[in-house]
Amino acid sequence: MSRRVVITGGATGLGARMAERFAELGDRVAVCDADRKSLDDFAEANPSIMVRVADVRDEAAMDAFLGEVEAEWGGADVVCANAGIGGPAGRIEDIGYQDWQDTVAVSLFGSYLTCRWAARVMRAQGSGVLILTSSTAGQWGLPHRTPYSAAKWGVIGLMKTLAMELGPAGVRVNAICPGAVEGERMERVLANEAAVSGRDIEEVRRKFTSVSSMGTWVTSDDIAETVLWLASDAAARVSGQAIAIDGHTETSRS
Ligand code: NAD
Repeated sequence: MSRRVVITGGATGLGARMAERFAELGDRVAVCDADRKSLDDFAEANPSIMVRVADVRDEAAMDAFLGEVEAEWGGADVVCANAGIGGPAGRIEDIGYQDWQDTVAVSLFGSYLTCRWAARVMRAQGSGVLILTSSTAGQWGLPHRTPYSAAKWGVIGLMKTLAMELGPAGVRVNAICPGAVEGERMERVLANEAAVSGRDIEEVRRKFTSVSSMGTWVTSDDIAETVLWLASDAAARVSGQAIAIDGHTETSRS
């Protein structure tokens, strides 16, 4: 059966890979993203997927996007509150208040707006799967990334509470906690951390991989396949979990 899948921040990276994999399985997929250029490129490569420009922090824009999905499909079976930004790298005393607010606003307040809608429609349906994107930074501290880590811990709190509120209605709520994912975003993170800590970028790279028992980074496919499993009936009794896909992080890097 074709599921109705909504993904925020889905024009690039992990969200895009999730969207592609759901679409490959024959599901109906709607993606929003704040970046029009990335969204145009994504739409060209994925003509079957509904795409809309919407910033997850913008209540009116999200109401419009999600309202359109609801009018078109009558609800949603899977919602992935995925949009997030890495935010600034620096000691807390060097991070400006606006940067702090922006980082928390995208990951946490943006997840709130998405989850608020998903909760209403899924509760009414008596079914649905909600998947929030946290991070290993939401399970461990992450030096020089206070707003990011705080926001991702907040996402876990949101997920846990929603799992309690929505479980009685037959709705499952989980979070994924990716470790460092290979790709352009992580290269930016490494460069920022090298600049802040004054270390060589290769040393920073080794430090990032060495915190994992498996000593490896993960791929967007590792993340997307876990999301597909969480969304499937194979995970029918899995709710309220923060699932790390990270080769087992043993310790926060420092
Ligand atoms: P990415 O930058 O490739 O993709 C994020 C997408 O979200 C982009 O298309 C971006 O335009 C969009 N976006 C950013 N701000 C937005 C906003 N306000 N409204 C709507 N869309 C917005 O990054 P990614 O690695 O794919 O990250 C996806 C999620 O995974 C994020 O929540 C991120 O924090 C989390 N995460 C990533 C990693 C990693 O190593 N890449 C690790 C742990 C967690």
